[in-house]
Amino acid sequence: MKSRRDFLLELGGSAFSLPLLSSLASTEAQALAPDKQLRVVLVGLGSYAERVATAMKDCKKARLVGGVTGTPSKIDTWSSKFGVDKANFYSYKDFEKLKDNPDVDAVYVTLPNSMHHEYVIRAAKMGKHVICEKPMSVSVKQAEEMIAACKKAGVKLYIGYRMHFEPYTRELIRMRKAGELGKIMHVNAYFGFKSGDPNQWRLKKALAGGGALMDVGIYCINAARYATGEEPVWISAEEAKTDPVKFKEVDETITWQMGFPSGVIASCATTYNFNNFERLYVVGDKGFVELSPAYGYGPIKGRTHKGEMSWDTSKMHQTWQMDGLADCILNGKPDPNVTGEEGLKDMKIIDAIYKSIAAGGKKIML
Ligand code: NDP
Repeated sequence: MKSRRDFLLELGGSAFSLPLLSSLASTEAQALAPDKQLRVVLVGLGSYAERVATAMKDCKKARLVGGVTGTPSKIDTWSSKFGVDKANFYSYKDFEKLKDNPDVDAVYVTLPNSMHHEYVIRAAKMGKHVICEKPMSVSVKQAEEMIAACKKAGVKLYIGYRMHFEPYTRELIRMRKAGELGKIMHVNAYFGFKSGDPNQWRLKKALAGGGALMDVGIYCINAARYATGEEPVWISAEEAKTDPVKFKEVDETITWQMGFPSGVIASCATTYNFNNFERLYVVGDKGFVELSPAYGYGPIKGRTHKGEMSWDTSKMHQTWQMDGLADCILNGKPDPNVTGEEGLKDMKIIDAIYKSIAAGGKKIML
């Protein structure tokens, strides 16, 4: 496997690699003084928050300093597990007290999807930078309001699109931008899994907004955009519902096509009802990249027309992500493609996919 140093050297000539370079370089630098770290509070201490907190233990430029929870019994565990001061835990009702805590720079919203809108806007009003999990909202209107609130407050809004910080994905994008794949001819993207507990919030429309598409299909939407470097101009979609009882409120399995201005079509699918479904295949007239697995926590694996890919998998994705975002917020590094505006683009595509399904698979122009 290549060392991180090899990786840095290989990427060194590419302007595209600069944000990643800075993120990687940060991991080799001396730890910065605490006041130069991005001090982050997680909102909603569930399973993904725990993963982010674990990954942040290895961050050099970002640090977990607190949490917001509706479950007071989590405070002791979180405080001891992640070394966080108990005074920096808040309830949802007390959320606004964060405003008076000068030791918090940013909040990271890891709540169920339909709660993102409210907590992003409340955080922005307090003047805190915001990182929000995907999907950024449950509607286009909500996403627009979140962007407007952050703009008005002069704070950053980033969506938790961790793949943009992940080395295999970064290499795919670099190769496409450098023309190494030639003219992109086709994208095939699929991601899904068999969901368990029928009572979980992910299967309730009021909390999740939608099903597999909003949860994991969104990775394929985002991937089709970064694999082509284009924005789709039309969508067509269909849903297969093999378990109408379990998936009464949300979508189960969806296949869709995204048409791009160059004429390229991305063929995509997502599901909540079976496993072993995770791949991104990008083929151009000079070469290809296949990542599989392509979106999970890793390790990501891949091959190109030149052979097997071998990149650094030593860090959790969220470690790269949080150091990278800290660099943007604290050091003015250029925003990667994970801004609120990028999240909004994906929400518009999700909206078009649902519209197409409702219209019996009709082509929806964007
Ligand atoms: P969990 O159910 O594990 O955690 C959600 C947490 O939100 C709960 O533990 C709870 O924390 C809090 N919460 C507040 N109100 C409610 C409510 N009414 N119902 C349920 N939970 C509530 O979900 P995940 O951590 O898996 O997902 C959270 C977000 O993260 C989602 O938007 C999801 O899409 C995203 N995600 C992103 C991933 C990625 O790779 N980028 C991977 C997994 C999830 P408390 O007890 O502290 O109040």
